[in-house]
Amino acid sequence: MTPGMSIVAYLIAGVLFIRSLGGLSKQETAKSGNLFGVAGMVIAIVVTAITWLQHGAGATAMAILGGAIGVGAIIGGSMARKVEMTGMPELVAILHSFVGLAAVLVGLSSYLGPESQAASTTVVHAASNAAHTGAARIVHLIELWIGIAVGSLTFTGSVIAWGKLKGTISGKPLLLPGRHFINLAIVVAIVAMAVPFVGAAGSSGIVWMLIMTALAGVLGVHLVMAIGGADMPVVVSLLNSYSGWAAASAGFVLNNDLLIVTGALVGASGTILSIIMCRAMNRSILNVVFGGFGTGESKSSAAPVEGEVREIKADELGERLANAKSVIVVPGYGMAVARAQNSVNELCRTLRDKGIKVRFAIHPVAGRLPGHMNVLLAEAGVPYDIVLEMEEINHDFTQTDVVLVIGANDIVNPAALNDPGSPIYGMPVLEVWKSAMVVVSKRGMAAGYAGIENPLFFHENCRMLFGDAKKSVDALVAAVRAKG
Ligand code: NDP
Repeated sequence: MTPGMSIVAYLIAGVLFIRSLGGLSKQETAKSGNLFGVAGMVIAIVVTAITWLQHGAGATAMAILGGAIGVGAIIGGSMARKVEMTGMPELVAILHSFVGLAAVLVGLSSYLGPESQAASTTVVHAASNAAHTGAARIVHLIELWIGIAVGSLTFTGSVIAWGKLKGTISGKPLLLPGRHFINLAIVVAIVAMAVPFVGAAGSSGIVWMLIMTALAGVLGVHLVMAIGGADMPVVVSLLNSYSGWAAASAGFVLNNDLLIVTGALVGASGTILSIIMCRAMNRSILNVVFGGFGTGESKSSAAPVEGEVREIKADELGERLANAKSVIVVPGYGMAVARAQNSVNELCRTLRDKGIKVRFAIHPVAGRLPGHMNVLLAEAGVPYDIVLEMEEINHDFTQTDVVLVIGANDIVNPAALNDPGSPIYGMPVLEVWKSAMVVVSKRGMAAGYAGIENPLFFHENCRMLFGDAKKSVDALVAAVRAKG
């Protein structure tokens, strides 16, 4: 394979990755988007392997490469097959951590590798060559420095995010005194240490590099530990973007154009997603980057919730639904836990067959993953055109007879709008209480992810349909059908 051919192949792979991202932005094209991504990755791996072979990699090196790919494919494939939809966010978080770790290892091995050391020694000792080679060497060392810093921060931050999403680490924010000062001091130290690192001869800069790697790791832990309340989704998408930038910097270190392009695509799309999520949550991106937002720390505590909880049974609700003209379903994390999406689709079909207008309202952070609810509803066969985003449907609740909230909690919490003491204050929510009747299907009175009470459950027009969401919705389907 000539260098020209590998450039063309990388270009094709890059275009396929762009088409993949384009496809993944819509439910209708998500599957083909995935296939474009797979095709691009196959081309990337094959071309890289051929180039490696042409650069003199022996049988042993190729066997190691093949073995590593095989083991990775088996582990990744079996994890992806086994993972429940409720476990996807943790999986995504831990995969981000691998990208960060890979960037750190690539940077360290590049610094300690024989080629790098030869270049470094040449520069330090050959003054005649210093003008050009010296500049190139400095740029290379700065690339390494940035790549390892971002990689280390992404690695530890993602591990903490994984622990928080899994529940092994408390979701409560850790707010150390003077935490912004601590973050700033670490950033300043990382920048300052680059000076002696770049000036160090041979591999003697490794000490600076290791200290910086540890400091960036501490920064990643500290930034994500400080995130609390309902704000983890933004952090996960931000770590996604960091993992892209870490991969891009590894691409610079390895001089691999496709890795640079792919990393930049992931970094840029992750950044755009973070901005979209920040807008949806009414948070400032700077607060996310510097950590410790959504904690409500400067405010009084949330107002106590009082009132009466009114229960409804499936039979009675079936009657209300059968007589309704317009129904909105609000799915949340509990629908994923109960795996109720097929039953929900069945209910939707039954109501639509009766001529009732049924639509779905999707909050941007419903569930535990951006697009979580869209994926489940698409899997169950709910038509795309009745699945609407929050801003498309939030004004329609006033004209709705029954809103059925299935396993959702934080995303329908009115405290976000009217209780300045609430940790989720300022986050836009689905204003379900404005409908004629709102029914919440959940197992008990437990809090949602943000760990706070929900005054909605005590509203005059709110009824609780207690029980597992799948069983409740199945009972509702039967009740609606029984009404003829
Ligand atoms: P919540 O986590 O707020 O609430 C889910 C509710 O589902 C719980 O209150 C629970 O109550 C109920 N539930 C659990 N299991 C079942 C079941 N089998 N049947 C019926 N109900 C059940 O979910 P939301 O979707 O409303 O909000 C998402 C939250 O997650 C937000 O705070 C968001 O910020 C956060 N988050 C979102 C991410 C994303 O990217 N989308 C990522 C990380 C966090 P009970 O136990 O009483 O049944």
